[in-house]
Amino acid sequence: MLFNSTRNNTLKVSSAQAIKQGLSNEGGLFVPEFFPQVSLEEINSLVNKKYVDIAKFVLSKYLTDFTEEELELCINSAYTKEKFGSDKIAPLYKLNNDTFFIELWHGPTCAFKDMALQILPYLLTVSAKKTGEDKLITILVATSGDTGKAALEGFKDVDGTKIIVFYPKDGVSDIQKLQMVTQAGENVFVSGVDGNFDDAQNGVKKLFTDEDFKKELFDSNIVFSSANSINFGRLVPQVVYYFSSYIQLLENGMVSLGDKINVVVPTGNFGNILAAYYAKMMGLPIDKLICASNSNNVLTDFINTGVYDKNRAFNLTSSPSMDILISSNLERLLYELSDKDDKLITEYMSQLQSSGKYKVSDAILNKVKTNFYGGYCDDTTTAKVIKETFESYGYLIDTHTAVAKAVYDKYVEETGDKKISVIASTASPYKFLNSVITAVDETYDTDKDDFTKLQDLSEKSNTSVPDALGGLKGKSVRFSGVCEKEQMKDIVKTALDM
Ligand SMILES: *Cc1c(COP(=O)(O)O)cnc(C)c1O
Repeated sequence: MLFNSTRNNTLKVSSAQAIKQGLSNEGGLFVPEFFPQVSLEEINSLVNKKYVDIAKFVLSKYLTDFTEEELELCINSAYTKEKFGSDKIAPLYKLNNDTFFIELWHGPTCAFKDMALQILPYLLTVSAKKTGEDKLITILVATSGDTGKAALEGFKDVDGTKIIVFYPKDGVSDIQKLQMVTQAGENVFVSGVDGNFDDAQNGVKKLFTDEDFKKELFDSNIVFSSANSINFGRLVPQVVYYFSSYIQLLENGMVSLGDKINVVVPTGNFGNILAAYYAKMMGLPIDKLICASNSNNVLTDFINTGVYDKNRAFNLTSSPSMDILISSNLERLLYELSDKDDKLITEYMSQLQSSGKYKVSDAILNKVKTNFYGGYCDDTTTAKVIKETFESYGYLIDTHTAVAKAVYDKYVEETGDKKISVIASTASPYKFLNSVITAVDETYDTDKDDFTKLQDLSEKSNTSVPDALGGLKGKSVRFSGVCEKEQMKDIVKTALDM
């Protein structure tokens, strides 16, 4: 298997090169040359196998330049009982006879980014070795909260890497900040920035493009890399849990081999739902891919009209990880649906860059509509769905997952399609405390500190506080520093002993 770029389909690189590089030089995203095909018999043979076995099955179809030992090292280091609470890794929860949640938040930071960021550091270090890179890989991250922590947990104490995370001083929640400043690990460094998320992100971008600094790093045997969500090494681990979902349905007798299911995904950057599309293209029996957005509903409009237009108000919602107006991974879908027309994709992306919008051809729009349904919901509906789901089933879901449930309900109402559906549950409800606790109790006084709220939510819901969050209480702060925007380069040098 080789990898092309969405903006140059004659380029061919190995998976190790694609993962090490992240983004192709002309700005395109790396995509597999073809979708490896999986038969129903092969799917059936995975019944009663462990998550790590399913991961090995899927990853070995794409990362064909990795040896079996290398793949096993990556998978077995990432998906452990210690990190994910049980060796199920991503358990399926049955809400009723046709609705299931695949819980993707049992990892160390209680959100679905762990599913990819736990394995990416291993894929990256193995890829670096395979491509002859012998420098210290340094991951630079600017975070608005969740990605920074998930990357820190993934990279901590991984040989051959360092990770430096910048967060906006007043732009993250108390718990998110505490998660980062108490981070363990010998190779980690965290700093606040006196500014907002854009300031932190611009500072990091500047460092990535500072040629003199790069030269200085090179001489010190260091290279920068990113844990960005467009890296193929973050996409391919996400294909695994769609296979696992189907296999768990087979194990429970909820589907017969070959029965089609629908998949519902709360969507931001389009990575998670794209992984479901990859699974479908490989032969996993999936019918509709239901793409759920919050009031930043640029994807809903795109799926319904074929026009992608980011010129609109940006809304801060109760599902902040989906507050996105440019869904980068959509480029990979358009590449496939245009029959790999790299010129056309380059044209759409340059229109997006210059005017903030593009319109796809009718042929592409028809294929979008055959595969996808798009819908959205606002914060009021999100809260209502959390409350209803809790009161009817005793099951507590977070705000992102509630957006998906709301759009799924709307889909069923509109179409009458009652096929078995799997909803991607992307965060623990404890992670989005304020919104979840006020959804189940409108009169709740939110003026309390976060640890009290964790306890209160635990009592109200009869579930236990995840150790990763409850255990933060009393942990000592390792990184209390906050720098000016202009000082970020100095901080990086200090962190790297330069
Ligand atoms: C990142 C994230 C999403 C969106 O996933 P994409 O792959 O960016 O579409 C949804 N929910 C949660 C909790 C997230 O952290």
